[in-house]
Amino acid sequence: MRADVRVEGGRIAAVGEGLGCPPGGEVLDVSSLDVLPAFADLHVHAGDRIGRFGLADSWGSASQVAVATGITTLFGFATQAPGETLSETLKRCQRRAEGALCQVCFHLTPTTWPWDWEEVAATVAQGVRTFKLYTTYREAGLYTPYRRFAVVMRRLVRLGGRLLVHCEDEGVLAAAATGAVDPSDPFSHTWRRPAAAEVEGIRRIVALARETGCPTHVVHVSTAAGVRLVAAARASGAPVTCETAPHYLLLDQERLRGAGGHRFLCTPPLRDEATRHELEQLAAAGAVDLFATDHCAFSRQDKDAGGELAAVPQGLPGLGGLVPLSYELFVVRHRWTLGELAEKLAAAPARLAGLYPRKGCIRAGADADLVVLTTSPTPRPVRTTVADSYDPFAGWSSTLDVRWVLRGGVVVGGSAAGGAFHG
Ligand SMILES: [Zn+2]
Repeated sequence: MRADVRVEGGRIAAVGEGLGCPPGGEVLDVSSLDVLPAFADLHVHAGDRIGRFGLADSWGSASQVAVATGITTLFGFATQAPGETLSETLKRCQRRAEGALCQVCFHLTPTTWPWDWEEVAATVAQGVRTFKLYTTYREAGLYTPYRRFAVVMRRLVRLGGRLLVHCEDEGVLAAAATGAVDPSDPFSHTWRRPAAAEVEGIRRIVALARETGCPTHVVHVSTAAGVRLVAAARASGAPVTCETAPHYLLLDQERLRGAGGHRFLCTPPLRDEATRHELEQLAAAGAVDLFATDHCAFSRQDKDAGGELAAVPQGLPGLGGLVPLSYELFVVRHRWTLGELAEKLAAAPARLAGLYPRKGCIRAGADADLVVLTTSPTPRPVRTTVADSYDPFAGWSSTLDVRWVLRGGVVVGGSAAGGAFHG
């Protein structure tokens, strides 16, 4: 579709042909280029600590990478600290994101049981509708038993919330951990956190979503079998969705072998090539609702501190790779349209977080968060982070040229705006 977009007061005022420019207005001529709603990453870790380690990215540095690649909305995780109310948790996390170039929203993880349901209701009413729980991480105090999931889901569906779940079945993990594995070999991560744990976790959570009717989103699915479970449940009417990350679509577990293998440690682990390939085919066929990075950058120093693997911080940077890598994989390799890409990177995350149609589409009334794209004759390097962290996609490149990025009608990034680097 060919059209003009009129922006007023940070919002899209009109979309149509021949809109003209009111006196005193400014024109950004993007004829011959493609305009999409700006993108969102639903799963980002920044400006926080995970266990003993500080994350390498602040919300400032994360949003610098994001806007350079057309992402204007980021979603982080606000985990309730002991003694905190949920609104105190949210305020603490929101303060850390003040001044960021992106809009930063949070998913909330209550850690006291039972939840303060009045506060949860108030939080949902304020627009924070997404809550994240884990079927694992007992030592970190994040584990939730399935019977408690059922209670949460029955309540959340009534309040209009949505549950995000990290699915790895703690029982399957415990059984796998008793096997003979070398704790110093990064590859052992694949045996200690096997695909079967994820599949069983998803099976249980999807069954609960069906039973309770609670909108439920499975984060960072790393297996084709997991995606199939979600897709089959959704096809039969269960309110379930899932995301996967570029590292599961593009990298396999062979990266964990040899010197430097520990730098590719993340949870769930990278999977074998056959699984990766199948995941790619399923995603290309549309079975994955959206792509999000689980961006979790640790400093080189922390990644290389040595010692037992249990002491290596697990997580990979990915944010700056989301758009160029998805473009290469789905638009270039699998012949998607840009509209199909925008569905996965803009519309779907906005819908999930309850922000659609204010975000994720180009229509009158929506925020003027826009990205202007073209292709570059020379591929540009992918850079997932500006922090001093190992880049899992070092050496990868993309022909996508993100020319302009607007947030609320204001140019915040893009190569034409003198973006510091191309993602
Ligand atoms: Zn995560």
